[in-house]
Amino acid sequence: MEILRTVAELRQWSRKERNRSGHTIGLVPTMGALHAGHASLIRAAAASCDRVVVSIFVNPTQFGPNEDYAVYPRTFDADCALAQSEGASAVFAPAVEELYPAGAATFVEVEGLSHRLDGASRPGHFRGVATVVAKLLIAAEPDRAFFGQKDAAQVAVLRRMVADLRLSAEIVVCPIVRERDGLALSSRNLYLSPAERAQALTLSRAVHLVEDLAASGERRTATLITAARQAFAAEPAIRIDYIVLVDWATLEPVEIAAPGTLFAVAAYVGSTRLIDNAILG
Ligand code: AMP
Repeated sequence: MEILRTVAELRQWSRKERNRSGHTIGLVPTMGALHAGHASLIRAAAASCDRVVVSIFVNPTQFGPNEDYAVYPRTFDADCALAQSEGASAVFAPAVEELYPAGAATFVEVEGLSHRLDGASRPGHFRGVATVVAKLLIAAEPDRAFFGQKDAAQVAVLRRMVADLRLSAEIVVCPIVRERDGLALSSRNLYLSPAERAQALTLSRAVHLVEDLAASGERRTATLITAARQAFAAEPAIRIDYIVLVDWATLEPVEIAAPGTLFAVAAYVGSTRLIDNAILG
């Protein structure tokens, strides 16, 4: 497996694979600290593309000033081993100055969408995400790029961006991978104390509760959100950031849930912010 450090190396690798060898290219963007959720994206990419490049880059522009950029887990050697074992042909791990050269002044802003859900509570977050993913798509020129439904609002922002910038990559969304007890895998789960780990289950419980209610025919947003809030009432140590039912494409609230409606929650467990969601059937 090749380790690529510069945009020029990534572009050269991708063009060689496609032009000289006729291979299709899959890109899996990550911030490292890879877990089984990331592994599922790499596997999906390897199943549908001839060559897979995993990017590992803790993107400073998507973190707020008081967020965890400095302490975000960095486990490069283990990440490379996992990427290789799941079928990646290359890892792209640039230095910050490689993606943000001195004086960098160009950002991608997906208006409207970028300020909803996580974008409302984390100002600038989706601007950073859209900017870095645009850079990766432009550099790697993949046929497909793989993202987790875990970050459902991010998917909405990136789909809009790819459509608006007329980028050629197909966005592929993979299901949420969960622990046996339901907790959605996240690199930030590493921050949880044992007590917080137990409290964190409230998110997936709320998600499953709403899924079950919707499946049994309850479609009124107000009723579904009240039920989810009641699940959180049992855990006063958790602070809800948002609980919403929105159109997955626009992230605008809906009054009546329909097939494809996004139910999403974000909450602070101690100082760790966790998210979870379901696309209603
Ligand atoms: P991150 O490294 O947190 O930026 O995540 C990189 C990619 O992995 C994103 O597309 C995430 O949505 C995806 N991902 C993170 N956690 C999970 C999970 N539990 N299941 C599926 N995909 C995930």
